[in-house]
Amino acid sequence: MKFTESLSDVIEPKKVDQIMQAIEEAEQIVITTHLSPDGDALGSSLALFHFLKDLEKNVRIIVPNSFPYFLKWMKGAGEISIAEYNPEAARHIMMHADLIFSLDYNISKRIGLMAPMLEDSPARKILIDHHLFPGNGFHIVVSHPEISSTSELIFRLLFQAGRYEKLTRAEAECIYCGMMTDTGGFTYNSSDPEIFEIISLLLRKKVDKDDIYSKVFHNYSAERFRLLGFTLSQRMDIYPDLHAALIWLSKEDQAPFRFSKGDTEGFVNYPLSIKGIIFSTFIREDEGLIKLSFRSQRSFPCNEFAADFFNGGGHLNASGGEFYGSMETALELYATGLKQYEEILKRSMDED
Ligand code: 5GP
Ligand code: MN
Repeated sequence: MKFTESLSDVIEPKKVDQIMQAIEEAEQIVITTHLSPDGDALGSSLALFHFLKDLEKNVRIIVPNSFPYFLKWMKGAGEISIAEYNPEAARHIMMHADLIFSLDYNISKRIGLMAPMLEDSPARKILIDHHLFPGNGFHIVVSHPEISSTSELIFRLLFQAGRYEKLTRAEAECIYCGMMTDTGGFTYNSSDPEIFEIISLLLRKKVDKDDIYSKVFHNYSAERFRLLGFTLSQRMDIYPDLHAALIWLSKEDQAPFRFSKGDTEGFVNYPLSIKGIIFSTFIREDEGLIKLSFRSQRSFPCNEFAADFFNGGGHLNASGGEFYGSMETALELYATGLKQYEEILKRSMDED
């Protein structure tokens, strides 16, 4: 097939062989992914899960905490264990695994309460991820920050291992969902032509891409839209000279809108549609912590801002962080950060 010949070997062929061999040798396999799993975290995990199940492996997916309702349609989502609900059971499974996959995160801190379980487990550990700076403690590391999703890496792994013909529709759907969500429906980080060659290969597996788009992006509650309206009209500050915008929501703000996990997904992207804005921040008060999301355009490194001020990180144009303290202090820290980044913001706006 013409298309298949043009995909490059992004993953070192030697590593593909090593991973396939590790799978062959393993009996009990656990797949883990990051806190507040998103479409890519779940898409990559579930695609690998189905692949391993087809090989008749004993495989489980364990995630640190729950995930949004608009991702529950993916085949196998109902079988995922949530560590927060039963930490003892999660630890037991991790300790008895002989192979653990770490998907879509670079360091154990990103799996919260599961970090010590991963570190303590005697299993072989394989990291497959697209964030910068992979951590230590993994036996095989497949780290590709230049690739826009971990789901794409899972596709490439299976493809390079010669498993494309056997790829099922369910696997293809999970991979497509991860690729789609981590690129905002292919609106950013998605100019690599090979992405579209992969999409073509997925469509050949009867993936209904329009249906997946609908299931993920047209599945919100009415309250979510009312909350979005409130946020944009009452909780948005624009700093035109700095090309920055901030939105924020306290717990109190969220209460009247019957907040459900995932309701604020995508909020941080809206201010980027404003002319002249290249840096958008969303600060949300959660249970016991303040969660931050950052998005940027052009060369502005929102991951460095996240790392400098909010103990976070991520990609150049999409990052996150967390803060333990009051909303008021978080807002002050953001203001301090903005001042410090003034020159870089102005330069990033002018440069490109
Ligand atoms: P989101 O804003 O969608 O929650 O996260 C965007 C990206 O930022 C994620 O893909 C992840 O790479 C990164 N990210 C989010 N939260 C954190 C965090 O608390 N710490 C780090 N290091 N990265 C984060
Ligand atoms: Mn990802």
